[in-house]
Amino acid sequence: MAQARLASCVPLPVDHKTLVNVIEKAKDWALMHGVGMRDRKQFSKDAIQIAPFVLLPSPFPRTEFNKAVELQPILNELMHKVAHDDEFLQHTLQNALQVDEFTANLYDIWVKVRDEGISQPVSLGMLRSDIMLESRCPHTENQCAKHTPYCSWKQVEINSIASGFGHLGPVSREIQSYILRQLGHGDLIKHMPENRALSGLCGGIIEAYDMYGVPSAVVLFVVEEVSYNICDQRFHEFEISEKRPDIQIFRKTLNEIYEETDLNDKKQLVLDGRPVAVVYYRSGYEPAQYPSQREWDARLRVERSNAIKCPSIHYQLAGTKKVQQALAAPGVLEKFMGPGGATSRVRDIFAGLYSLDFDENGERAVEMALADAERFVLKPQREGGGNNIYGPEIRDALTRMRHSRERAAYILMERILPPLVQGYVVRPGAPVPPPISDLVSELGIFGVIIGSKEKILHNKQVGHMLRTKLADANEGGVAAGLGALDSPYLLDL
Ligand code: ADP
Ligand code: MG
Repeated sequence: MAQARLASCVPLPVDHKTLVNVIEKAKDWALMHGVGMRDRKQFSKDAIQIAPFVLLPSPFPRTEFNKAVELQPILNELMHKVAHDDEFLQHTLQNALQVDEFTANLYDIWVKVRDEGISQPVSLGMLRSDIMLESRCPHTENQCAKHTPYCSWKQVEINSIASGFGHLGPVSREIQSYILRQLGHGDLIKHMPENRALSGLCGGIIEAYDMYGVPSAVVLFVVEEVSYNICDQRFHEFEISEKRPDIQIFRKTLNEIYEETDLNDKKQLVLDGRPVAVVYYRSGYEPAQYPSQREWDARLRVERSNAIKCPSIHYQLAGTKKVQQALAAPGVLEKFMGPGGATSRVRDIFAGLYSLDFDENGERAVEMALADAERFVLKPQREGGGNNIYGPEIRDALTRMRHSRERAAYILMERILPPLVQGYVVRPGAPVPPPISDLVSELGIFGVIIGSKEKILHNKQVGHMLRTKLADANEGGVAAGLGALDSPYLLDL
């Protein structure tokens, strides 16, 4: 079956002269409104370059978009419950912990702070559920008339740490609105859903700050040594400082936190003589961000403190691939959500997810993947893009790991096949105009949840982001240079 297609919102191609002209304007718009990133090759703190973006918004069925938006508070609550279920986390992660040092280090911190007694029961979750449309209808081998040209979306993953694009999501809508106006299609802007992700996410940080309730306290962003995706962090700071000039924000690496913070006898994390109310991690999700014991010690210190963490360490564990796979196993959703309709709505969004544990089920999954590797994605316990294994390499990896416990740190996932859309991707340094390409998109829905094990205090869907990549690319990280910023254009099919 040919991969389904959705039509572009504007007839393509756009003529050469118009295209060159509008791209030149759009690049300047991008630079002047923070649609930017730092240059990896010629890094300078004095300059940003345009972030790759798709010229026109990508079609997305309205009913499916609304379904994703409506489901987000349910997913938030599910993640919150999972993060607070010690026994489930322990049981689910136990095999991976034996072979994956990174997850084991996170887990050890969790056990340590739990044993000492949690000093801050409230967590701030800023989640992003990433989804893709599935273009193959499960009802029939061929496309079924009822669901042409798509059926529904499936979840790729849910992120519980450093879920980016709170700024780049909304601003992608703005730049594409500008482009549509320049092309004489301003009337189409009404089909692009409002996106208040930045304000919603920052609202979560402010709410957590107020809950902490110490007027002299500060907010701490945990950042990488070098932040290439700087616009998507600074705009959060700008937004908070505009809404709340009284809140001071610090940016520190884990190493700086090690050197510059202390825990006082009230378990406050003290930075520059002031307690930290909220710690927002934009780093700390991958092993390279902990190059020495100092970074792990810093992480432990933060977790021991009474600052409200986004995420707390158990939230980070709840966002791991292994947990995602375990949630898809029979009976698990029911345990967290009861037998009602919400459970089946969540079950519907799961693509096939299989454990590769060293047991009968795991063995069956290995067989299945070896027989038809193209059908799957093989995922290690990692975040941040670029770690998954696809196609023939799945066979190599599984053949190598088949008799090793190492495989327990991976999960096997059914590959989603999204519909194709034609479009232009504008990239820094690339020839103008770009060619028309076949593209596929991944939508992220943001959620904010604040609460303790006993009580959820705040639970909302707060906006979205869309990333689009060339149809033949396996992954589409924008900061990694593979994907491009985009926004949805809602279709009434
Ligand atoms: P990470 O934590 O590294 O972001 P993801 O699970 O989001 O891991 O996978 C990275 C990328 O790989 C996704 O953004 C998507 O482009 C692609 N991908 C992941 N899972 C699937 C899948 N089941 N089907 C198709 N593409 C996938
Ligand atoms: Mg991802």
